[in-house]
Amino acid sequence: MVARISQWLDNIPRGIASKLNFDGDTISRFAADFGSINHSAPPTAVFRPSSAEDIAALLRFAYDSDSPFPVAARGIGASTRGQAFAPGGVVIDMAALRVGGRRISVSVDGMYVDAGGEQMWIDVLEETLRHGLSLRSCVDFLYLSVGGTLSNAGTGGTVFRHGPHVSSVLELDVITGKGEMITCSPELHSDLFYGVLGGLGQLGVITRARIGLCSAPTRVRWLRLFYTDFDSFTRDQEFLISLPHPAGFDYIEGQVLPNHQQVDDPTFYTNEDTERINQLAAECDRMYFLEAAVFFDSTSEADQKVEGLLTQLNFNPGFAISKDVSHLEFLNRVHIEITHKQISFMTGDSNDTCFHPWLHLLVPRSRIRDIYNGVFKGILQNINPKGLMLFYPMNKNRWNDAMTAVVPDDEEVFYTVEFLWTAATVEEWKNFEARNNEILEFCDRQAIKFKKYLPHYTTQADWERHFGLAKWEKFVQLKQKYDPKAVLSPGQQIFSVIEHQAKPASMHA
Ligand SMILES: Cc1cc2nc3c(=O)[nH]c(=O)nc-3n(C[C@H](O)[C@H](O)[C@H](O)COP(=O)(O)OP(=O)(O)OC[C@H]3O[C@@H](n4cnc5c(N)ncnc54)[C@H](O)[C@@H]3O)c2cc1C
Repeated sequence: MVARISQWLDNIPRGIASKLNFDGDTISRFAADFGSINHSAPPTAVFRPSSAEDIAALLRFAYDSDSPFPVAARGIGASTRGQAFAPGGVVIDMAALRVGGRRISVSVDGMYVDAGGEQMWIDVLEETLRHGLSLRSCVDFLYLSVGGTLSNAGTGGTVFRHGPHVSSVLELDVITGKGEMITCSPELHSDLFYGVLGGLGQLGVITRARIGLCSAPTRVRWLRLFYTDFDSFTRDQEFLISLPHPAGFDYIEGQVLPNHQQVDDPTFYTNEDTERINQLAAECDRMYFLEAAVFFDSTSEADQKVEGLLTQLNFNPGFAISKDVSHLEFLNRVHIEITHKQISFMTGDSNDTCFHPWLHLLVPRSRIRDIYNGVFKGILQNINPKGLMLFYPMNKNRWNDAMTAVVPDDEEVFYTVEFLWTAATVEEWKNFEARNNEILEFCDRQAIKFKKYLPHYTTQADWERHFGLAKWEKFVQLKQKYDPKAVLSPGQQIFSVIEHQAKPASMHA
């Protein structure tokens, strides 16, 4: 097991020691995350770097030490299962790198942006928009860090066309578990480049990402189409993601509203819309909405395109709600809604009492009906829905299998099925957790070959199953090459150290 930092505190070079924080409040903030679920041992210290070189120095020290200690980069702490924790070790507060100003630089000629791994997407986007450029793919919530997102994948409603965030990355600066600073790309140290993308923080700390951009549209027509028939809903979603650019929508997501769940979003619906939709919700067991958007510069072209597309869809007549917004307002919609409702989002505040036992599944298209029958109509039949259930398809050919990020095998189309529960009490959280376990057991019983997004496992067998044997073996090799003492991101519970060599976690639990 890696040693606790306190064993060699005395040996820390002054340049590193001056940036370590041992204050009790700070420590407890970095022992909590958005999920509020996992409570392992707190870190011994929180490191506030002023530069990427500081991070390299810390990691070199951890690696060279006789008693290596765990180190985890933390973006915003938006994880739900302690993935950015470093029990007994050091958490790097990446946000400290934002203090000296935005490390974001746009190349208009190159159509890319260089962004520090600590930057939040909202800041990256605001900077690119100043140059008339935008991100090709975008997460739904822009107050996430670049490094934390790229360590997972970065999904959202444009993935069906442009792939996840990781697909737009052209180059990275990475500091490995040995403290080496390496610039990597598809041509340079490509094993590290692809390994880090979706690599769950296991191979290095991303300190800069070069991300490809596209022209920013002037406006966005944002639509929600309501369905009471599941098959029409999924058929339309799949039809829409099959359309080649520029024929279809530019963004497609969807939500399931179980058990008469009502809509409540004054940033999108008028009072009259809300009343009509909620009347429909009262009349049926489950309702669905397909969320779509067209990015446009000319209103008449958008009118024509949307009209043409809507005639081919089978939503409940009269239940297409739309509005035109700026590109930024559209991409920042989740934050705008959260702010409007005055919901507190945990950005490192340990006083937050909400629990978020989220479960994200990626499910092959052919098994979606089984999820409908067994989960929506079965396991979740009588739940009191608190939170969101996102449900939309993606094209597998937009994901690069060379990356560590994992998606279901075999089928060309898979769905993201996300149970984004919010629990106000421990009892509620445990109830949701019990439902999550039932869902997972159901999928296993039915041999549904799902993959988890933002995965959380604790045994080697589960991680091996998650990655699949070939990818797992490659990942273990990369770990041994770039973080051989398994210093990095121990909160993911994938590897730990035995005799100074990274081993899969459960071999020496
Ligand atoms: C409200 C909300 C909305 C969300 N919406 C989306 C969405 O639309 N799409 C989506 O894909 N995800 C979404 N997520 C999930 C999000 O992508 C993950 O939580 C992700 O981990 C990013 O959060 P973070 O930046 O706080 O990273 P953290 O939670 O701090 O870290 C996540 C992991 O990455 C590691 N890490 C952090 N920074 C770095 C770095 N610079 N280099 C290497 N490793 C690093 C950490 O050690 C940890 O293992 C959402 C989460 C929330 C709470």
